[in-house]
Amino acid sequence: SVPLTVVAAIGAASKFGVIIKSGAAFERFGTIRHVAVDKTGTLTRNEPAVTAVLTADGVSEDQALEWAAALEQRSTHPLAAAITAAAPGARAALDVTEQAGHGIEGTVEGARITVGSPRWLNAGPLASRVAGLEEQGMTVVIVHRDGTPVAAIGVRDELRPEVPEAVRTLAGQAVGVTMLTGDNARTAHALAAHAGIDDVRAELRPEDKTTAIRELSRKASTAMIGDGINDAPALAAADIGIAMGATGSDAAIESADVAFTGHDLRLIPRAFDHARRGRHIIN
Ligand code: ADP
Ligand code: MG
Repeated sequence: SVPLTVVAAIGAASKFGVIIKSGAAFERFGTIRHVAVDKTGTLTRNEPAVTAVLTADGVSEDQALEWAAALEQRSTHPLAAAITAAAPGARAALDVTEQAGHGIEGTVEGARITVGSPRWLNAGPLASRVAGLEEQGMTVVIVHRDGTPVAAIGVRDELRPEVPEAVRTLAGQAVGVTMLTGDNARTAHALAAHAGIDDVRAELRPEDKTTAIRELSRKASTAMIGDGINDAPALAAADIGIAMGATGSDAAIESADVAFTGHDLRLIPRAFDHARRGRHIIN
């Protein structure tokens, strides 16, 4: 059975938005020395918006956005919502298929259009300007028309303003932070610099995130914080899995040991402080 002091501590944590699922999770929480953080939605607002469009000769920005949006209107990816919102008009697409972690392809007005990561699609003559946008922290997707690069679309997802303070407070608690992301390395490093995070693992596939968590856990007791849905395997592989922004009905709560009702990363150092003091009282 769970000691009453632990029950009380778990109850107190729930009042500041930290739901701890069990007494065992509470006790393990107090031993955490490292935190791995998913970038999109956890460090960022998850409100991506198109902030730059580069085009090849003879292609207009509006054309490029409409070709891309014709495909993206079929996708639920956060980048897709940004691109659809930026397109001036709607066009129909046929034979649309999405490749998870890479991009999307289909036929628009008789031409084969592909939209996806610069790892998946070459940027051709746009490559050096694409790198420039990534260095400014934008995620860039490349647009191909019949196999030729015709545009690059830069999407910005702002860092949550409370993140740098949370990272500094964790450092003061001797808790290290690693950023995990499927996004490209240049974008990831630009955002990490603003967040105050030195250790960045970018261009990860979902299974690579799990491998990274296992590696970090061997060195120090590690918590993983993510939005819970596509991060479920990584949350499960961590010593403590934390789902952020969970609501009561969420599947995220199921795969995590701890759930935060809000998106404020400062809840992590606050909850550590609480759990460490709780352990001290118990032991
Ligand atoms: P994250 O780890 O940031 O959630 P994903 O694994 O979902 O990233 O996707 C990795 C990359 O694949 C994205 O940054 C993007 O370049 C590309 N990508 C994935 N889905 C799409 C899509 N629907 N449209 C365009 N690009 C996409
Ligand atoms: Mg993600």
